Amino acid sequence: MANRAYNFNAGPAALPLEVLQKAQQQFVEFENSGMSLMEMSHRGAIYEKVHFEAEALLRELLGIPDGYKVLFIQGGASTQFAMIPMNLLPPGTTASYVATGSWATKAIQEAKMFGETSIAASSESDAYKRIPSLSELKYSSDAAYLHLTSNETIEGTQWAEFPDTGSVTLIGDMSSDILCRPIDVSKFGVIYAGAQKNLGPSGVTIVVIREELIAKPANTVPTMLRYDTHAKADSLYNTPPTFAIYMMNEVLKWIKANGGAAGMETRNREKAKMLYDAIDGSNGFYRGFAEAGSRSLMNVTFTMASEEAEKQFIKESEASGFVGLKGHRSVGGLRASIYNAVPAESVRALADFMRDFQSRNG
Ligand SMILES: *Cc1c(COP(=O)(O)O)cnc(C)c1O
Repeated sequence: MANRAYNFNAGPAALPLEVLQKAQQQFVEFENSGMSLMEMSHRGAIYEKVHFEAEALLRELLGIPDGYKVLFIQGGASTQFAMIPMNLLPPGTTASYVATGSWATKAIQEAKMFGETSIAASSESDAYKRIPSLSELKYSSDAAYLHLTSNETIEGTQWAEFPDTGSVTLIGDMSSDILCRPIDVSKFGVIYAGAQKNLGPSGVTIVVIREELIAKPANTVPTMLRYDTHAKADSLYNTPPTFAIYMMNEVLKWIKANGGAAGMETRNREKAKMLYDAIDGSNGFYRGFAEAGSRSLMNVTFTMASEEAEKQFIKESEASGFVGLKGHRSVGGLRASIYNAVPAESVRALADFMRDFQSRNG
């Protein structure tokens, strides 16, 4: 096996080595079919088995109750920023958004193109270092929906608990923390996630949507951007991204074999603790970006005393085999993305590197 980097990329991100190896094995010929999975019809029995197996695994691992559709859509989570208001924000209603950081802001900007929005709570004045508390949320009981971003990938914050919104539809962008821990799907009307952080490679976005929300939207909504199109056709209205869905299915099998969402949470808490301990034990050499109560299990963000120190850290870390530790260009600093598939050994190596770097430069 060639050297595997300590991969902390933010997305696309590390995939389980076992999954990559199995995919490699099945790449040229899939299950005695005489061809690769990528060379066959998405209407055939062989592909359909993969497609519906992935859906069934998502239902099982997320604990999706009856009454929800699971859709596979292209265009990334960014397309959902538009599809949600196009389908779920009728004229005369207002959609409420929680402004927690970079991704929430993009979702809000997109919704404004289609209708009225309000901000239920915002941590902008705190540089998005925290997730607003549930008691801060202010939205009308006749809001079309309340949208939140369960994990802000760039700032490194994560919701610890979700609100009970009663009759108001709760929508969650879970692109960067789906299946990192068990959640109560029944609180949500819609959950969506691009696959390339926690579920597989890029190319497919999953949408879990309560059936009663799938109505016929305005006639001006294009066929491909309507939930009812994809729901009626079991995500086979047009050609789906077959390879991305195949890979996601393999990642889901890996998650199941490793204890499901609960197993992921145990691993993820151990991994995150290693890095937050290294930060908190550094006497201010490393400074956690997110407030303690809002820290993400998936994206650990921190800064150092100066940009020069951060540059030196990046340079030396790269020389030691660490990849992807530079913070997003919009907030700077450093970020270690430690999604489900990032092995504990990589995280332990990084925590050791951080202490070693401090002892040499502190
Ligand atoms: C990565 C990310 C997105 C954007 O995903 P694309 O699939 O690239 O459109 C949206 N929301 C969150 C929280 C993300 O982490």
